Amino acid sequence: MANQDLINMQKMQLDVLNSIELGIVVLDRSFNILVWNQFMENHSGILPEAISNKSLFECFPEIDRNWFELKTKPVFDLNSPAFIIWEQRPFLFKFDSNRPITCASDFMYQNVSMFPMATNEDEVEQICLVVYDVTDEALNKQGIQTLNQELQNISRIDGLTGVFNRRHFDELFELEYKRICRSNADSSVIMLDIDHFKKVNDNHGHPAGDFIIKTLAKVVQFSIRETDVCGRYGGEEFVVFLPETNAENAVVVGQRIRKACEKLVPVYEETEIRFTVSVGIAQFEKSYTSPVDWMEKADQALYKAKNAGRNQVCIF
Ligand code: GH3
Ligand code: MG
Ligand code: MG
Repeated sequence: MANQDLINMQKMQLDVLNSIELGIVVLDRSFNILVWNQFMENHSGILPEAISNKSLFECFPEIDRNWFELKTKPVFDLNSPAFIIWEQRPFLFKFDSNRPITCASDFMYQNVSMFPMATNEDEVEQICLVVYDVTDEALNKQGIQTLNQELQNISRIDGLTGVFNRRHFDELFELEYKRICRSNADSSVIMLDIDHFKKVNDNHGHPAGDFIIKTLAKVVQFSIRETDVCGRYGGEEFVVFLPETNAENAVVVGQRIRKACEKLVPVYEETEIRFTVSVGIAQFEKSYTSPVDWMEKADQALYKAKNAGRNQVCIF
């Protein structure tokens, strides 16, 4: 190739290096910077001539030297490429994001590929870092993850009351049942149902009924421990699982809820709507064959409370 052609080609290569939307950095074995392209200049504000032959770690003290040396070891020693992905470390170079106003992140997420550059026999003398701006991809992925988490929460929570829905309560209850079968600890389940609730709907309308259901959920949540688990089991039916609580102590909780409801004077659109609840309790027994079996015992106790005149607590 003629000398002039070579110069032209090198000039072209330099133009390409500087026009691509990727960071290109070449480092020697001592981590001195040999190449620093336009992208790197634009985002760091440091000119190539100001950084040339300077140590990467002196220019960017935030880069953890031990970690980076470990990362680049296979590139230098084994002549094989290595990668840093944003999920492991959000960035190598702390650059501002491209769009500080519209972007949800104030820094640039980066993927970095590191290639060996064999210059002396098979010895790798230099490595080339290619820095990709993956801010949009990272934010999208994180957005999807947040959304999935929210969906998962929504699928566990009853929309009206904010307590666990029946499906999720059943899942938790089954796990607890299995645990108790092994540990034999005293545990109880409470089932409660609003008395003559149809009348609330009939006399005051469905939204008023919803308001009462929400009110009861608050009373229950207020009356139980943090370790107790509450779920909405049906329209105006709630269940509470009480770990390490025998029937006698569960009655104390049941009575606390019952009395609180009886005393409460909820007002919905300027109308007082009082209500009472009936409560059924079943303590775990080894003879119960399944979580459903155990729950049915609490339901039977609830039925007993209804038959005995409502607004009372019964044990199976
Ligand atoms: P009992 O004392 O025997 O429990 O009498 P009850 O009238 O409360 O009878 P039951 O428990 O069978 O009534 C449940 C009623 O709850 C029937 C249904 O219309 C109403 N309901 C179910 N889900 C909802 C809901 O989400 N909102 C409202 N407002 N009402 C509901
Ligand atoms: Mg009812
Ligand atoms: Mg009911």
